[in-house]
Amino acid sequence: MDRLLRRWGRLLPSCPGPRRPPCRLYQHPPGRAKRLALSRLFQPQNLREDQPAGPESGSEPTCKSQRLMLRTGLLHPAGPGCYHYLPYAVRALEKLVGVIDQEMQAIGGQKLDMPTLSSAELWRASGRWDLVGPELFRLRDRQDRDYCLGPTHEEAVTSLVASQKTLSYKQLPHLLYQVTRKFRDEPRPRFGLLRGREFYMKDMYSFDCSPEAAQQTYDLVCHAYGRVFNRLGLQFVRVQAAVGSIGGTMSHEFQLPLSIGEDTLAICASCGFTANMETLEPQQSNCPVCRGSLTETRGVEVGHTFYLGTKYSSVFNAEFVNSQGKPSLVEMGCYGLGVSRILAAAIEVLSTEDCIRWPGLLAPYQVCLIPPKKGSREEMAVKLTETLYDDITEALPHLRGEVLLDDRTHLTIGNRLKDANKLGYPFVVIAGKRALEQPCHFEVWCQSTDEVMFLPKQGVIDLLQKVQVV
Ligand code: ATP
Ligand code: MG
Repeated sequence: MDRLLRRWGRLLPSCPGPRRPPCRLYQHPPGRAKRLALSRLFQPQNLREDQPAGPESGSEPTCKSQRLMLRTGLLHPAGPGCYHYLPYAVRALEKLVGVIDQEMQAIGGQKLDMPTLSSAELWRASGRWDLVGPELFRLRDRQDRDYCLGPTHEEAVTSLVASQKTLSYKQLPHLLYQVTRKFRDEPRPRFGLLRGREFYMKDMYSFDCSPEAAQQTYDLVCHAYGRVFNRLGLQFVRVQAAVGSIGGTMSHEFQLPLSIGEDTLAICASCGFTANMETLEPQQSNCPVCRGSLTETRGVEVGHTFYLGTKYSSVFNAEFVNSQGKPSLVEMGCYGLGVSRILAAAIEVLSTEDCIRWPGLLAPYQVCLIPPKKGSREEMAVKLTETLYDDITEALPHLRGEVLLDDRTHLTIGNRLKDANKLGYPFVVIAGKRALEQPCHFEVWCQSTDEVMFLPKQGVIDLLQKVQVV
């Protein structure tokens, strides 16, 4: 990209004056799909990056992903630990949810959606109304009933399953999950989506008929989590972890090694043992398994799995009818993925200080087409670019909705390329000087390999054929 930027910067002087997009009506040929024009996108950019999360939180520490997401119009601050997710971010988030849905459903996960308003009765029954303390957002209705905004849903889902009185061992396991906003009054919201007070979580709850079956389900979900991170191209470490206020007898965290991470991880190079330092004895420097020396690294917790046993099923009387026809408590596990945290952590891991880099599958748009500047010698190639747009979306149905036309033709190609580089589209196609050749050649930048290719229209279509979308 640097080479490309240098070249386009040199050939075409940068555009003076304000960067106001031209206000022109969508024009698309009858019978063909509408083109997605970049000038029409809602993308308010936060030019004051030094104030990342609104006036209330001027002193909050910031990090790279947060600065990038604010600067490029992916997020807009709404208050401490709260953000507006803008269209680019929502597209990436929906793709991430798509990957998660595929992996959860591949192991038999069934998606549901539970209320955000969670009755205090449920929380009092489990004892967590008092145990959790000020992190719970609490509220009261006009009938003086207490609620909290759900920070997690063990109580809700267990009482739901308990309401099914005829559950047979033949129907188990059940793996129920949702992707919803969670609310936690964090004492120190920080780092944008990495630690919010309102954030997206995928939470799954498993119900089995024996501890052995529940252990198998636990392993199955951990493997599915591994597949989610592998498909995103993110290196992760699975570590032993403390059970905290959720409880249970065993737990693991999925961590992305990152220097800004708030967790310290201990890793044994000799036997592969890994743990969150908080589960080890203070100052412990030797591996509890092989006595080898432990190295420490910082991590961001992106997922957490718990083996719960009957901790919640015994409270809510969640039972099934066993093979002898007797009622028996279900064995449970619960499994969280920090969806919005994963999005920010992926950007944190992959990006440079100035340019967003996405896991390929999550890029909000896969392709950006840049036609020539208005008034330039190549101007007549604007039409060719529009035709290329239509031909790509017609020949490659999987890319419909994935191709953006940067129609801000009052800007130089160089300036638009700079923006494209910041936003990290996997493919950028430019109609430059060689667009006027016979046959027309487009310049294609492939972000993952940093390769620049000159290709005729069919070559561009063949190249894009291989692009994977969720
Ligand atoms: P942390 O230790 O980071 O506060 P936690 O252990 O309290 O997290 P869990 O209850 O295990 O969080 O929630 C499941 C997942 O939800 C976490 O692994 C994390 O990825 C995500 N998560 C938790 N709190 C937040 C938050 N404040 N903002 C964004 N994501 C969060
Ligand atoms: Mg956790």
